[in-house]
Amino acid sequence: MIVGLTGGIASGKSTVARAFAALGVPWVDADDVAREVVEPGEPALAEIAARHGTRVLNDDGGLNRRALREIVFNDPDERRWLESVTHPRIRTRLLEHLARLQAGGAPYVLLVSPLLFESGQSAMVDRCLVIDVPETLQIERTAARDDVDAAQARAIVAAQMPREARLAWADEVLDNSGDEAAMRRRVAELDRLYRAMASKP
Ligand code: ADP
Repeated sequence: MIVGLTGGIASGKSTVARAFAALGVPWVDADDVAREVVEPGEPALAEIAARHGTRVLNDDGGLNRRALREIVFNDPDERRWLESVTHPRIRTRLLEHLARLQAGGAPYVLLVSPLLFESGQSAMVDRCLVIDVPETLQIERTAARDDVDAAQARAIVAAQMPREARLAWADEVLDNSGDEAAMRRRVAELDRLYRAMASKP
């Protein structure tokens, strides 16, 4: 069984994933895998370089993310092309990682993905767990963690999927507006639920 874990910036995805890991539940991070598929030597990077040339490569042959981001930011067709090259590979690689963890004896596994719904990765999971906090707290925690001020944090939050839309897709919700002890209690409760679900034939 695969549980997709998502939420907006600084909602607490990594913190919650670590709490599950402490109970013996491993996770795969979709962002890590998205970086993996465009590493030097990967076919996706070769395709991107063939289309855009050396302007999207660094001197060491690695992907110049900033250059590629600028191209797709201004061109929806290029964005779609890039997604058609990367998304199927990300999906395959994610399923390989998740299968390996399950074969290693995990009771169930987590797919941590900031864009679980937007990327269509929710179709790969059995349950969707949304980490939810009010936007004011999200902005506060973003500004405290990252090198941004409240206005920048607010702009990042405003550019993401609205809280209500995410909640509408959730199977389970973890309200992370309390302290870390409250979060861990809710994780323990969800862990019991997911273990029970995973052990049903
Ligand atoms: P995400 O992975 O969703 O971006 P993080 O797990 O990095 O979010 O959490 C964002 C920030 O909020 C971090 O600094 C983290 O320590 C803090 N945080 C997360 N959950 C709680 C909580 N329940 N109480 C207080 N701080 C929290």
